[in-house]
Amino acid sequence: MTTIHLRNLDIVTLDEQGTIHRQADLVVADGFITHLGQAPDTLQADEIIDASGRVALPGLVNAHCHSPMTLLRGWAEDMYFPEWLPKVWRAENQLTGPDIYWGAALAACEMIRTGTIAFNDMYFFMDRVAEVVSESGMKAALTWGFFDPGDGTAVGPALEQTIEWIKATHARGNSRIKTYLGPHSPYTCSQTTLERVVEIAHELGQGIHLHLSESQEQVDQSLKRYGLRPVQHLNSIGVFEVPGGCIAAHTIYIDGQDIEILAKKGVCVPHCPITYMKLAMPFFSFKANLQAGVKMCLGTDGPASNADMDMFAVIRQTALTQKLLQVDPTMMPADTVLRLATQAGAKALGFTDSGVLKVGAPADLILVNLDAPHLRPVHNLIANLVHSAKGSDVTDVMVDGQWLMRNRELKTLDEDRILYEVETRAKALVERVKQ
Ligand SMILES: [Zn+2]
Repeated sequence: MTTIHLRNLDIVTLDEQGTIHRQADLVVADGFITHLGQAPDTLQADEIIDASGRVALPGLVNAHCHSPMTLLRGWAEDMYFPEWLPKVWRAENQLTGPDIYWGAALAACEMIRTGTIAFNDMYFFMDRVAEVVSESGMKAALTWGFFDPGDGTAVGPALEQTIEWIKATHARGNSRIKTYLGPHSPYTCSQTTLERVVEIAHELGQGIHLHLSESQEQVDQSLKRYGLRPVQHLNSIGVFEVPGGCIAAHTIYIDGQDIEILAKKGVCVPHCPITYMKLAMPFFSFKANLQAGVKMCLGTDGPASNADMDMFAVIRQTALTQKLLQVDPTMMPADTVLRLATQAGAKALGFTDSGVLKVGAPADLILVNLDAPHLRPVHNLIANLVHSAKGSDVTDVMVDGQWLMRNRELKTLDEDRILYEVETRAKALVERVKQ
């Protein structure tokens, strides 16, 4: 049993009472937190670390992203969403398994460096992303996405292949990887396809991860086709009542009845404000969702539309945009937004013990360096973390007691090789799109 003793650090637990320890001890043994506050004098640790000037907090959870889209970062800029999406899809048609592997590996480097310990990913070749998750030591919920509008223009693996991948992933028994069924969205999948997905979700005990109600156009299309808004359409075919639950990304064009359904059915809604701002997609439903008890969490979305994977940026922008949109500076207190970025995301992904620092919880934590000009003085530690900290202030990352980064050095991934591979492959990819 490996025991790690961190000394002299501040600890933001995010427990129910919002306990903060100052100049305290945190002990990790065999992957779990065993002491918080004062370690026993008799403790015999394998590693003793003086963490003066650092604050520990639960690791961040990116509740919706497309990690291999790092390959397209900065490639489709200043475009409207209806034009941006087909351009990105043209590039995605050219992707290979190795491209996906290296793109996800780059994302993992970036996420670890900015304090993310778990992510919810939807993309293609998810067997290759699973390799990255295994090697990096991160936690992830993985969705092998597909489009099947039922008119012969399906993209991605057949549903049956997805099922085989889910079974094979579970057989490997990596508790750090969860799986979801991934019909991309109700506007790219027919009702027949979605009904089949719901059946399979019940057979396999799986959840569903998809995109929902991202634009007025999608709402109009759904009303024309089904006489129902997208949320109501999915509700009518049981998408929200599958055993593993439903994660419906974005869900921004909704009305009061939609919100009631989302809250009642326990749908998790990842909110990705930087993508919405960059693609000029208005997002006015957040406050009503929160007030109605919809399970909100936060994500970056893909780095082709964000264009980074820094959850500290998402945390700050979530707070700022709501204050502005509601013309109310009391909206989104710092503690609330920090909980959305940690425990709410962890719950949505099925890592239910993560997102809080307490005895018995898995040691999924990050250390932030407070010895920086923009983080002093410390009148209010939580406010500094939400409104002043940046991803680059994260010095150390631990998942299940394993160091993924120590003193800004990545411990599980070969970053130099990853940067080289991605640069080469991303250039070759966009050349193939031009041809
Ligand atoms: Zn997305």
